[in-house]
Amino acid sequence: MKKSLKIACALFAVGVVVLVCLFAKNKSDKDMLKELEQMEMGVEVALNDVPKNTNNKKSSADEKKVDLIVSRMSPRFQKELKETICGNKKQFLEELYVVLEDEKAGEVEGCLPLYFLIDKKHKAEPETYVPSNLVPLVKNNYYNISRNDLSLREDVEAKLVEMAKAARKDGITLLVSSTYRSYEYQKALFQRWVKIDGLEEAERESAREGTSQHQLGVAIDFGSIDSSFINTSQGKWLNNHSEEYGWSLSFPREYEDITGFKWECWHFRYIGVNACKFQNKWFNDVQQYMIEFIDEWKKS
Ligand SMILES: [Zn+2]
Repeated sequence: MKKSLKIACALFAVGVVVLVCLFAKNKSDKDMLKELEQMEMGVEVALNDVPKNTNNKKSSADEKKVDLIVSRMSPRFQKELKETICGNKKQFLEELYVVLEDEKAGEVEGCLPLYFLIDKKHKAEPETYVPSNLVPLVKNNYYNISRNDLSLREDVEAKLVEMAKAARKDGITLLVSSTYRSYEYQKALFQRWVKIDGLEEAERESAREGTSQHQLGVAIDFGSIDSSFINTSQGKWLNNHSEEYGWSLSFPREYEDITGFKWECWHFRYIGVNACKFQNKWFNDVQQYMIEFIDEWKKS
């Protein structure tokens, strides 16, 4: 009896210890879980909160920036674009960020940025700028060249090849007639136009040195370099497809008051596919409007 009592007591004690242990384990697991949950919630709150606040602040600051820049633009810009841009700022900004990222991704050392603003009021920097990666255009299977002294930025020449290949598929061979022009060359060219047409007319059709898109090594004059080009198969193809390959018509019809130049159906600047879409959707397909906006955006 004594022995079995001892065994019973021992078993009871073991049972109690096991129960206590289990309870304790359960409790500590529960506590730990609870603590973890609290920690996780804290982390979640932190993760959701901080960037959200930062994003919200950034986006509301950027929305104000859009309004401010639009208000500084020309009356015509505001009349044509203000309502669409300022009425859809969130969407506009999303697309602007993509376009700005593209420019960053395409940066080339020693070259001005892809959307660099150059026009009658904005010169190259420095004025006598020469892109660092010019390559000569040589006879090839994709496009024709009208002269042997043509050159473009290397990255941009590759984009010309892409477009020219697509044109070839449609049975069109593009003729490249004018490309990069140095500061000195542009100076002589402008003076030549002054002699032919007089100063006032020259200002409408040729850029002064330091202010030509051609100096950036990103612009091309195709074909005949006159308005008859629009009626050629090349002119029509470019008019319909150039933007699919990132090439934008710089001086569109009826925008001389904005661009400073008469309609040039032969002059295209490479800006990239997303920038072309952006320009088309928000800026009436007017490159000058978009590049002026982006220039202001970077400065503000
Ligand atoms: Zn041109």
